[in-house]
Amino acid sequence: MPRKVICLITFDYELSLGRNFLPPEMVLFEPTRQVLDLCAKLFCPTTFFPDVCSVWAHRKYGLNEYADSFESQMKDTLLAGHDVQLHLHPHWLASKFENKEWLISTNKMYLHELPFDNNPYSAGALVRRGISYLDELLRPVKADYSCFAFRAAGSALQPHENEIIRMLLESGIKMDVSVTKFLTLKLDTVKIDYTSVPARSIWRMSPESGTKSEAAEGLLEVPIATFQSGLGARTGFLWRRAISIKQMRGTTISRAKHQNRFANIRTLIMQNLRYVTGNPWYILSCDTKGFNSKMLMDGFRQYIDRHEGEETVYVTMMNHPKLMFDYQMKMLEDFIVQTRQEYDITFATCADVYKAQSQPSL
Ligand SMILES: [Zn+2]
Repeated sequence: MPRKVICLITFDYELSLGRNFLPPEMVLFEPTRQVLDLCAKLFCPTTFFPDVCSVWAHRKYGLNEYADSFESQMKDTLLAGHDVQLHLHPHWLASKFENKEWLISTNKMYLHELPFDNNPYSAGALVRRGISYLDELLRPVKADYSCFAFRAAGSALQPHENEIIRMLLESGIKMDVSVTKFLTLKLDTVKIDYTSVPARSIWRMSPESGTKSEAAEGLLEVPIATFQSGLGARTGFLWRRAISIKQMRGTTISRAKHQNRFANIRTLIMQNLRYVTGNPWYILSCDTKGFNSKMLMDGFRQYIDRHEGEETVYVTMMNHPKLMFDYQMKMLEDFIVQTRQEYDITFATCADVYKAQSQPSL
């Protein structure tokens, strides 16, 4: 057993990327308030990754209520002791608001689809804009705040990972929590392959190393933890997933025009098929429909066991307030309580981890 576990609980703070069935208050702001209340009750610091592109898009169309609520909730989150770092869904920038509805643009959804040059719409310019935006928003709340960490849309640092890592470093990003150990994913929107990443639970990535090997210096990576489950657990998972599938506040994004229902159903089926085929890697998350507390805890233990050679094991958990209902909130509570009982565990923010890594103990 490792001497110590450091766990980064993270939340991608965003609306549903395709269609939202409910107003933002019910998709995002109220579930986030519940998450913050729970974390306050349990004295558990976390890191939020707000999709800042959505704020810029709403402001552009005069939808200031969303933007104001978003900004004030991120300030409250930082004040409550959590960290707030950068997440970007660039498709917002070309999306249009017409007849009280978002027409989602799907041709520029990921960093690799943006230009890598000096133009104002390049990937680097967007990351720099995001960093300045969060610094300006949050420094008045906390003087030593700085935006330095990143979570990629769809966890996709690929394709072109070497260029993306270079661009992130050159733009001022120092830490990343996007690599998802051993996950492969191929949808109509995103394709990632993290099957050959370093064995450790924390490492550095350079433009030369990409995601596949460790570098002496560069971007600090704390990958999203994953696990596999036996056939029995997978069957239970699929059953629970099937009966809860209707519990949703919106749909995921599809490349098909205007997010029509058929396109979304197809995306949904493709997303679910990956759980049926073979022996998939599950993401450590409280909001994956079909998990229960036992499956999640078993997965967590397995991840720790896979890294038992390390004195300190780092574990990133990925959640989304938009996907959290009462059941998922309870699972998060159980997870925090149970891991504290079983392990010498510290829940830390990105800022905590980065600071400790860059100041070697005496
Ligand atoms: Zn996201």
